[in-house]
Amino acid sequence: MYSISKKILIEKQVAVEKDSFSNAEISQSAAVKFKCCNCGYENNVKIIPYESGFPIFQLYNDEKVLTKNELLRNNIVSETAVNLLHFGELTVNNLPTLYFGIACPACGSKYICVFSYGEKQPGLTLLTISGVWKYNEI
Ligand SMILES: [Zn+2]
Repeated sequence: MYSISKKILIEKQVAVEKDSFSNAEISQSAAVKFKCCNCGYENNVKIIPYESGFPIFQLYNDEKVLTKNELLRNNIVSETAVNLLHFGELTVNNLPTLYFGIACPACGSKYICVFSYGEKQPGLTLLTISGVWKYNEI
């Protein structure tokens, strides 16, 4: 799991086995499982609440990694509801949104995973994986 600091090009989205976790399911960690679209390796990444990931803002700040438009166009994030802008301009499910980069251990293909985590309403904590996308460095 790493942060991304150079410009990238989103190539394609890959399917994740399970993309929504709530309450007890995320008391320890949530598993992101996806098959590498290059070599077929079954990747299994653990998201640990409050530990894993980097703020999504780091990607579109100064358009350093991706532009807001690229993030929206690829349905990676949505524009945040006006009353929840304290979570950032672009979010998943109107909750604090994070990302991480991950390389397939078998072939080295690079992926970006975007997810949000937080209390949706009192007593309901949600972790939503927006998706996993294969990317290339430009
Ligand atoms: Zn691979």
